[in-house]
Amino acid sequence: MLVKEADVWQAVLGEIELSVPHGSYITWFKPTRILKMSDDTLVVGVVNVFAKQQMEKRYTPLIKEVLAKNGVKAKNLEFKINSSLGVKKPTPDDNIVVQKENTATKKQTPAYRSSGNTLSHSYRQGLNERYTFENFVVGSGNELAYAACQAIAQNPGTKYNPLFLYGGAGIGKTHLIQAVGNAVTTNKKDARVVYASTEQFVQEFVDALRYKKNTDFANHYRNVDVLIVDDVQFLAGKEKIQEEFFHTFNALHQANKQIIISSDKPPRDIPTLEDRLKSRFTWGMSIDMQNPDFETRCAIVQIKASAHNLNLEPDLVEFLSNLYQTNIRELEGALNQLLAFCEMRGLEPDLVVATGLLGGRKSRPKHVTPKQVVERTAKHFHVSIDDIVGPKRDKDIVVPRQVAMYILRSELHMSFPKIAQELGRKDHTTAIHSVEKINKEMAFDTDIREAIVQIKERLYV
Ligand code: ADP
Ligand code: MG
Repeated sequence: MLVKEADVWQAVLGEIELSVPHGSYITWFKPTRILKMSDDTLVVGVVNVFAKQQMEKRYTPLIKEVLAKNGVKAKNLEFKINSSLGVKKPTPDDNIVVQKENTATKKQTPAYRSSGNTLSHSYRQGLNERYTFENFVVGSGNELAYAACQAIAQNPGTKYNPLFLYGGAGIGKTHLIQAVGNAVTTNKKDARVVYASTEQFVQEFVDALRYKKNTDFANHYRNVDVLIVDDVQFLAGKEKIQEEFFHTFNALHQANKQIIISSDKPPRDIPTLEDRLKSRFTWGMSIDMQNPDFETRCAIVQIKASAHNLNLEPDLVEFLSNLYQTNIRELEGALNQLLAFCEMRGLEPDLVVATGLLGGRKSRPKHVTPKQVVERTAKHFHVSIDDIVGPKRDKDIVVPRQVAMYILRSELHMSFPKIAQELGRKDHTTAIHSVEKINKEMAFDTDIREAIVQIKERLYV
């Protein structure tokens, strides 16, 4: 490639970076390159078929506009898949991870652990280099958390101290807070970063008491630049540890050292957490991470597949992303299961194989009709079907209506116009908004989540 072309494309990327969400930029734009530039044709190399589709469907006008601003009139803009772009070659380690993650226990595997342990002699204690900002997809549910984490990685201890991240299982909390630690040690080689799960913190404390090494323990955790403690909901009911944690917290906070904490619920909802800790946890910034939307899930599947140097067809990516709406760990598990299955049998992962292997969840709802969903939902909320499909806008009617729409989408995979029609709405955007809304609410509203579980259970008996 000529130097000039590369320069032009860098300039174009620079502008695009400012106008699209960061995650989209990292996922789709960063790994691109000009393959060919002639008088009126520009061929851009993209990383995979999904990126190609995104570029063609969503970003062509934007790219053309920015190109024009930079003096390039590309009448024909083409995208070509060039899988060597930006994708790291799979290492033997990757294979170990795929296969081990497929064994019945989905716990962190020894292979996975070992990369953390080998680092434990340095200051990067507990960090797993697998978790970075680069391979984290930014979408509607995690934008704010991502931005806060990036700000902290740039300047630990100055803003948002402590950062308290909370959200449901498998939503990316550990990934993000580990990414901060990794970024900090990359930016500053001698930074002292310690990551500990709360369970580990507790275990080490108990050991320290037993072996009378309390001072070592305290020094260890109080002499860091960044302390990351994961899953602090497990501090519930452990008085002594809470006290120790309280002192560690104060020592670090006073010294302007960064503290990052995650939990599956906000501090106020952690039972038997001392008030003084509750209040300290909210001194800085608390952010809830919400369920990833469909597009984000697709991008995550794609990014995970590219880590194995694979390009998946869009229909397969969409199928997988529909299987799990909230828990990315489960989504990743399904992908890994599929990849291992295909590798063992020498198959290409495609929709047919995936449906055969994982399709149980999808085929089950076939026996259920949209009418049954609406009926079941109405019954659950003690409202009449006429009301649900009628014009009323009272809250006790609107919520069941939205829940019914959500179930039609998540279980029967109906199109939005069909969903709207089923519930007597003229405009299909109502259905889109309702499904998104319930999707988000499920992250923190246990009543809604419980209602949906119950309705679904009754649908299939
Ligand atoms: P949590 O700690 O919230 O339970 P994790 O951070 O362990 O969840 O995430 C579960 C899995 O999903 C991890 O493998 C993580 O890399 C992946 N994951 C979650 N969110 C994202 C995202 N936005 N982009 C890429 N991977 C993600
Ligand atoms: Mg976690």
